[in-house]
Amino acid sequence: MSLLTLSRVTKGYVAEGPPAVENLSFALERGQILALLGPSGCGKTTTLRLIAGFETPDAGQVIMAGRVMAEGGGGSAPVPPEERSVGVVFQDYALFPHLSIEDNVAFGLRRLPRRERQRRVHEILDLVGLAEFRGRFAHELSGGQQQRVAVARALAPAPTLLLLDEPFSNLDADLRAQMRDEVEKILRSTGTTAIFVTHDQEEAFTIADLVGVLDQGRLEQIGPPETIYHHPATQFVAEFVGAADFLPGLVTSQGIVTEIGVFGNPEAREPGEKVTVMIRPDDVTFAPRQDGEAVILRRYFRGSEILYCLGLPSGRRVHSSQPSSAAFRTGARVRPEAHLLHVVTFPAE
Ligand code: ADP
Ligand code: MG
Repeated sequence: MSLLTLSRVTKGYVAEGPPAVENLSFALERGQILALLGPSGCGKTTTLRLIAGFETPDAGQVIMAGRVMAEGGGGSAPVPPEERSVGVVFQDYALFPHLSIEDNVAFGLRRLPRRERQRRVHEILDLVGLAEFRGRFAHELSGGQQQRVAVARALAPAPTLLLLDEPFSNLDADLRAQMRDEVEKILRSTGTTAIFVTHDQEEAFTIADLVGVLDQGRLEQIGPPETIYHHPATQFVAEFVGAADFLPGLVTSQGIVTEIGVFGNPEAREPGEKVTVMIRPDDVTFAPRQDGEAVILRRYFRGSEILYCLGLPSGRRVHSSQPSSAAFRTGARVRPEAHLLHVVTFPAE
């Protein structure tokens, strides 16, 4: 039985216009980490609030371990948030400023006897490496430390499910990567099932077992990171999870013919069909040629690699990422070549 199931959940805040979350369905197994990925306003926070019980669905069901937590359309009364065994880490940490770190973490343990509560607080502060800071107040800690307190506070009551809303977005890049690793380690070592929200695809790919991509309240795709990257279900997913160019292609009995090469047809599309082929920058190489049909329009130095933007005879563009050991100049004529590890096509518009 899945730990969490959302079944066709819809939630709108206003009568007019499309709902914030529409017809959302997915299931999460015990111990899994799900990353919900999508642009600002796509419904990520609303989804977490529905699961935590801060919002009630207009339609559909939220089910935890087989028990209906909430359902739309005049069904059973929703189970209140404090009875759902769900921990939440908010984007701004929301620590209590007038309480010490220790008391912040103890907050969700009010029902435990004093002894046991103290033991648990120490145990969890040890786990996040903050035992020595337990008497301090939030403003006496760095951003990364506050973030860890927020995680500790949410984990202290040993919730069945932990929800984290853009937990790393207030940290700078270095600390962010470090915290991401630390938090993952804590989740894995405690076997905690978790959903974390992000608009950063790298973050989602690094931590999660499953990535769900949301657009305008709808779940476009959910699956393992590799599937989302190599086999995106829609053009929106393809572009959101990595750089991608799209070229028109014609399906023939020899394969899919495009301006930069003929590719296999593993999806068995019908000959004669017009498609759009996804090209990732790591699929494209090129060789400098005086009579090359393409031209280097721009180059972007990225450190370990250089990203080239190639102009094709049709006026379309593809990008190619190359090691920065060899550099080519803007304006050079080149012959592009594409080797697609995975051929992904969409019906032409
Ligand atoms: P995300 O977290 O992905 O940025 P949200 O779930 O916060 O997205 O918001 C989804 C949509 O719902 C947005 O269009 C947002 O403006 C709207 N929305 C969110 N909260 C409220 C609210 N309390 N009242 C009205 N509209 C809201
Ligand atoms: Mg949000």
